[in-house]
Amino acid sequence: MSTEHDHSHLSDTDLRVRALESLLTEKGLVDPAALDEIVDKYENKVGPRNGAQVVARAWVDPDFKKWLLEDGTAAIDSLGYTGTQGADMVVLENTSTVHNVTVCTLCSCYPWSVLGLPPAWYKSFPYRARLVKEPRAVLQEFGVELADSVEVRVWDSTAELRYLVLPERPAGTEGMTEYQLVDIVTRNSMIGTEKVAMPAGDA
Ligand code: FE
Repeated sequence: MSTEHDHSHLSDTDLRVRALESLLTEKGLVDPAALDEIVDKYENKVGPRNGAQVVARAWVDPDFKKWLLEDGTAAIDSLGYTGTQGADMVVLENTSTVHNVTVCTLCSCYPWSVLGLPPAWYKSFPYRARLVKEPRAVLQEFGVELADSVEVRVWDSTAELRYLVLPERPAGTEGMTEYQLVDIVTRNSMIGTEKVAMPAGDA
């Protein structure tokens, strides 16, 4: 966003960030162009919408889905959502019999290139500690009701390996276009703590 010429609406935090950036640039510690690129990337190009586009494509294109499940890194890369962290991406398909959910038990490793910034609960100690021990209870708290016959798989992310859940395409969405499907894919459904629901009021 190029609103930098109007400083009158800057908050205290904005001013502090700007001051810090000026100082770091002056000391030669950061390249302002690189910083702008990073901010732009995380503000505008990175975020759950990237992941939603990956999911919607997989839902409408069986060949892409096959590729995505076989080589998540390359398939995601083909849509332009390359991570800058050098981490490999593994895509996990949720089905009527298997429910995958992701966590980072050590810290907060997260697939930034497709989901943006991690939510606070993902980084919280209770989520990290409990998901592995009692995944069904945690999922229930998120509103995910699973039959006993459904196998729950918990995947622990690392700096080298990050996971994206491919949620189940809800019944009743057969007539929706890829573009429309992007809008119903939620961030949590790609972490595994939610199921994608058919949009209310849609016939
Ligand atoms: Fe981590």
